[in-house]
Amino acid sequence: MTKRSYTTVNPCIMCQPMGSALAFKGIESTMVLYHGSQGCSTYMRLHLAHHFREPVDIASSSLSEKGAVYGGRENLKKGLRNVINRYQPKVIGVATTCLAETIGDDVPAIIREFKEEEEIGDDPKKDLIIIPVSTPSYGESHVSGYIKTLEAVVRKFAEKQGKDRAIKIPNGKINLITVESLSPADVREIKEILEVIAEIYIFLPDISETFDAPLRDDFPKIAPGGTLLTEIEDMPNSLASLGLGIVSKNLALEFLEGNYSVPGHSVPIPIGLSNTDNFFTELVSILNCPIPEKYQKERGRLLDAMVDVHKYLYGVKAAVYGDPDMVFSLTTFMLEIGMYPVLVATGSKSRDFGMKIRQIFKEIRPELEPVVLDGIDFDSLNDAVSDCSPDILIGNSNGRYIAKVRDIPLVRVGLPIHDRVGAQRILTVGYRGALELLDRITNAILEATDTFTSPVQAKPATYTSKVTEEECIEGIK
Ligand code: SF4
Repeated sequence: MTKRSYTTVNPCIMCQPMGSALAFKGIESTMVLYHGSQGCSTYMRLHLAHHFREPVDIASSSLSEKGAVYGGRENLKKGLRNVINRYQPKVIGVATTCLAETIGDDVPAIIREFKEEEEIGDDPKKDLIIIPVSTPSYGESHVSGYIKTLEAVVRKFAEKQGKDRAIKIPNGKINLITVESLSPADVREIKEILEVIAEIYIFLPDISETFDAPLRDDFPKIAPGGTLLTEIEDMPNSLASLGLGIVSKNLALEFLEGNYSVPGHSVPIPIGLSNTDNFFTELVSILNCPIPEKYQKERGRLLDAMVDVHKYLYGVKAAVYGDPDMVFSLTTFMLEIGMYPVLVATGSKSRDFGMKIRQIFKEIRPELEPVVLDGIDFDSLNDAVSDCSPDILIGNSNGRYIAKVRDIPLVRVGLPIHDRVGAQRILTVGYRGALELLDRITNAILEATDTFTSPVQAKPATYTSKVTEEECIEGIK
């Protein structure tokens, strides 16, 4: 499918340190510092600020030619000192960029040295915590940066407890750890469900406030909100972990299971009917409680809406693209509502992606044969869209040029969404999120076809009239 495999043209992923910043920004009083050149931090700050419409501070060790030749040790130490003085954070997340990794800086060793020089201890309650994560972009994508960062955070906070890991103080909580960045509205929805069902839980990372903050008179240097540090420290004592996402590995969940015997359960991101059903089923089976009536009603409303719009959506061909787990859940939903995802693609390189997507087709619509691609760029996505001729695109805003050229609608989901406002308020998870997504997709189709009185699929695939034009005119007379 890819016609130009020798180079990447417009990547369908973002830089690995950006994923790291997304994860760190969901943690209380945390500042991010990129060890690398200044451009990395500028680009990623802008990218995130355009998507979330919030100020996003990311510090940089500002490596220049000198640092590239002689190493970035002094730059990193100076950067850490500046961040401490200006922001007074409780945690500094240090993510490396391509340059720092290429010159081979030993970042954990530099941080150890810095902490000794500045006499900074390792107690999360009173000392500053510095967490390094190796995130060169030539390695992987923002998705892996996000996953690796969450694991590094959980590992760091568990270290203290690690010395006596056999002694656990059960807290009765459920850990919820996601493998992909959700919108702040999605996080709020899941937290609301957890509050109703679980009451006590730990959501990591919580960007519901940090990336969607109310306007206020004062301007805190670090946005309030995020998962509390005491909660992260308490994660090894939890009843179980529930991971959102089944395509990418949830390293934080695996770490807690492997090292602290916290049972890990993974479900797809709850987008659509069956994925949300799975989420609720897993949650109530862990907690041994019923599904509240409120959500049974929401499910009923979703089913009702699915019946209402089925005639407009049945057989509509869609191209779905974005981050692997988000695409998996969106594809499941497309199949449930009768659409035909002819092209399913992700920019991340993923061994499991194709297998999981084909499996879900086999379970729901085995007769369909989609084109499934991973590791693509937008150039090859454009080629694939030309070959598959979808009626609609579903994915982030970077696909807008493809949609525009082909004059088909684009339903914006995922990250980034730069050409519209409100990305932070887009709700896709839970029954309510599925309802909102269903309305958006249906209305986009109706807008494009202008056939709200007749189903989109009413006309036969091929139709040749046996009546000639002359006979037809004669008949009318
Ligand atoms: S590709 Fe590497 S050097 Fe370029 S912006 Fe991303 S992290 Fe920085």
